[in-house]
Parts: sequence; structure tokens; C-alpha cells
Amino acid sequence: MVLTSRPTQVPEELHLIDRPELGLKGVIALHSTSLGPAAGGCRFWTYASHEAMVEDAMRLARGMSFKNAMAGLPFGGGKAVLARPSGDFDRTAVFHAFGEAVEALEGRYVTAEDVGTTIPDMVAIRERTRNVAGLHAEPGSAGGDPSPFTARGVFESLRDLSQTFLSLDLSKARVAVQGTGNVGGYLCRMLREAGAEVIVTDIDEARAARLAAEIGATTCAPDEILFADADVLAPCALGAILDETSIPKLQARLVCGGANNQLATAEDGEALKARGILFAPDYIVNAGGIINVSAEFLGETPAQVAERVGLIAPRVVSVVRRAQETGEAINVVADRMAQDVIDKARLIPA
Ligand code: NAD
Repeated sequence: MVLTSRPTQVPEELHLIDRPELGLKGVIALHSTSLGPAAGGCRFWTYASHEAMVEDAMRLARGMSFKNAMAGLPFGGGKAVLARPSGDFDRTAVFHAFGEAVEALEGRYVTAEDVGTTIPDMVAIRERTRNVAGLHAEPGSAGGDPSPFTARGVFESLRDLSQTFLSLDLSKARVAVQGTGNVGGYLCRMLREAGAEVIVTDIDEARAARLAAEIGATTCAPDEILFADADVLAPCALGAILDETSIPKLQARLVCGGANNQLATAEDGEALKARGILFAPDYIVNAGGIINVSAEFLGETPAQVAERVGLIAPRVVSVVRRAQETGEAINVVADRMAQDVIDKARLIPA
């Protein structure tokens, strides 16, 4: 399906994947290609319905358009979502099939890891298409695990936002981190190195306990972390955790974390503003991973990645300043800035 005139939440293209012999159903959503090929990872997850899967792909693809635009990358936004086949399945065959679907888009979509996919999955995809990144890094080139780069951008943003808007040095800050996976784990280590007090949680309690013991953090129950007595909340698990139920009970003065789509709805950004809580738009602060992935795809160097990741914190500080000047919610200002970048590219003929 190709749409020519569309509101911003609607993708340019939606491609359905249906391979009954493999038990595989999925969708590739290309939200925008005006800045370049649509780039965004492949999620491998269990969905309650076909509609829920398509909805997730569209929402995530839009987020990738905004993330890539704000990070200054020559990529549009897209996302693939595959529904995990039930029962036993041939994982390599599934990712070969997905690679064929990516290849059929003739370079308009570039994929990588997301929740539920791994480097070996990317290797399988690479056997069917060149339009994949997030594999192993070659010596002297960018590549490999994007999580440390994501965590670096989140850490520097959290540090600079605390300092600039809360007059709070990290050595005196208490930070509550939800999720001690790849991004949360790296982030917690950086926070402890900067002298912050850290409270962690994970639904995998053993994982949280291991990290806490390693770095000297405290743990709390998963349902307590959002409301922990902390200066900063760093969501690093799943999305939609900031909603009409959680926002009234938050203790933190700043929310800055790596999880995608933290706001359940755009209106929740208004609710945070009304409570005087600063919100770091997730797609700005967690762009380090896609910066690394895109550099791998383009054959760039680790130095180029470091330079771009270093621009994330000043960028989010300037977005918060802009919101304070206009009196708007921070997410509203960020979305408008990102959409402007995309719209300007659309006006320039290829
Ligand atoms: P991960 O799977 O390694 O870690 C997520 C952790 O969160 C897991 O340990 C999981 O058990 C835990 N978790 C899930 N639900 C939870 C809950 N309700 N309460 C507490 N813990 C919970 O994933 P990751 O790569 O660290 O990514 C974390 C988030 O950051 C995701 O939203 C992802 O989309 C986003 N993100 C990741 C990257 C990256 O480079 N990995 C880049 C951009 C955005």
C-alpha cells in the first residue's frame, strides 16, 4: 500500500509479511524516506492481534523518523515488527524470510536489532540483503552492540539537564533506573562512576540484584521504581510508562531514560509540564544506538560516532530551553522540530 497524501502519524508505506510455511507474519512500516532510506530495527515480539502488531510498527516507525531527523542522520524512519511464531520454529529460516522482504524494498529500508532480535539474527538477514546493520564491528570501523552508545547519550543528557535546570550535580543526585538490561546496565555504571546514588529494579530480579551488587546500588520492587524517592527517573525498560495513573505519583523532577515511547500519549507531556517535571524526549536522548548503527551501515569511524553522540546532550538542553521560552510542553516542541527537519527535506528535490 502506498499513500501519497497523509497525516504525519501515517506511514508512507506498509508492507505485510506472510509466510505460512514458517508460521511467520510481520510488517515493515516506512514512515518517511525524505531524509534517506528508512532506518530502524526489527522487533520480534508476541502480539495480542494483527492490529496490535501493525499499530506498534507504525508508532515505532514514526519515532524512528523523529529520532533520525533530530540526530542529523541521512535516514528516514522505519520499523519492522515480526510476530514470534508459536511453538517450535526455525529461527534462521524466519530471519532469512525477513531478509528477503527487506531486499524486496530495494534499499528503501535498512534494518538492525530491536527488542527480541540479536546479532546472529542480523547475520542471517545479511545472507539475504545488504540493507542491515548491527553486526560485528570491523577493526577501525563503527559497528557492533549499539547499547553502550545509547547509554552514553542518555547519561550525558541526564547529567547536563540535572546541572542546567535543577542545579544538581550528579555526585549529589539520586537516580531511579527502571530496567537493568543492556542500556540500563551501562547507564547505571556511568551514573555510579559520576558519584550518583542509584536505585535499580528489573522484573528479572536476579539481574537487578547482580548489577546492584556489582556497582553498589540499592534495589526496589518493579512496581515501586516510578514512584521512588529520587531526583531523576531513568526509564530503561518498555514504553508507555508515563500516563494518567503514574504521572501524579512521580517523585522525580526529571525523567531521562533510554526506553522508546515513554509517554503513553502526547497529552501526558502536558501533564508532566503541569507538575513541573522536566521530560527528556526519549527519541532525542536515546539516539546513540542508531548513530552507531547508521555509521556501521555507511562505513564510518568510531570517532564520527563519538562526535555525533556528544551532540545529543547539548541538543536536548536546547530543546528544553526552547520549550521554556515558548511555554509549551517539551515533547510538543521536540516533535515540531523533528517534523520541520523532515518537511524541509521533502521540499528539496532529490
Ligand atoms: P533489554 O531487553 O536488554 O533490557 C530491558 C530490561 O528491562 C530487561 O532486563 C527486562 O527484564 C526489563 N524490564 C521489562 N519490563 C520491565 C518492568 N516493567 N519493570 C522493570 N524492568 C523491566 O533492552 P535494552 O536494549 O536495554 O533496551 C531498553 C529500552 O531502551 C527499550 O525500550 C529499547 O527499545 C530502548 N532502546 C534501546 C537501544 C539500544 O541500543 N539497546 C536504543 C534505543 C532505545
